[in-house]
Amino acid sequence: MVKIKVGILALQGDVAEHAKMLSNIDLEPAPIKYIEELESIDALIIPGGESTTINRLADYAAAALLDRIKEKALKERMPVYGTCMGSIMLAKSVEGSNQKTLSLMDITVSRNAYGPQKASFEADIAIKGEPLPYPAIFIRAPRIVSAGEDVEILSRGENEIFMARQKNLLATTFHPELTEDTRIHEFFKGMIEEILVKKG
Ligand code: GLN
Repeated sequence: MVKIKVGILALQGDVAEHAKMLSNIDLEPAPIKYIEELESIDALIIPGGESTTINRLADYAAAALLDRIKEKALKERMPVYGTCMGSIMLAKSVEGSNQKTLSLMDITVSRNAYGPQKASFEADIAIKGEPLPYPAIFIRAPRIVSAGEDVEILSRGENEIFMARQKNLLATTFHPELTEDTRIHEFFKGMIEEILVKKG
């Protein structure tokens, strides 16, 4: 059987870790640098990294690539999963900033909301439908501070959302690719399969 091919935006960030995770759950990873490469993938991961860097790239080299990602997500319902910086890229608004994003998901994020790099931490969090907690790694993570009606909240803390889905879009403020636990990537795989079946 042909494997589902999942692109990983490879402009910046932890691409190799996502690739390994995808291979572990029998998906084919494909680093994406050029716009043409988007045409052969079934879904896309936007990894963690630094959103201000992507912003700078968006002004120059990567503008067309990012536009095409947005178009594919909107018109072709391409599943897109953003981790950490990727969740910022998916968000419709970034608190206190006019930073450019893909503006696809009805969420508001607050960047670097837990403090500087050294305030990075790991926490066991509850995920909807999962009997066991998930070991989530937060690295200069954003908080999702609010979400619209169409957004399904899959994990939340006291004052923030850690994981959310809106139709073909998935966001986590943590980094599942840095753990050995494949459950979040498997959840995304389930989303991709569901959407591919609907597309027929
Ligand atoms: N702090 C980064 C930003 O705001 C995100 C960090 C990450 O992806 N680990 O862009």
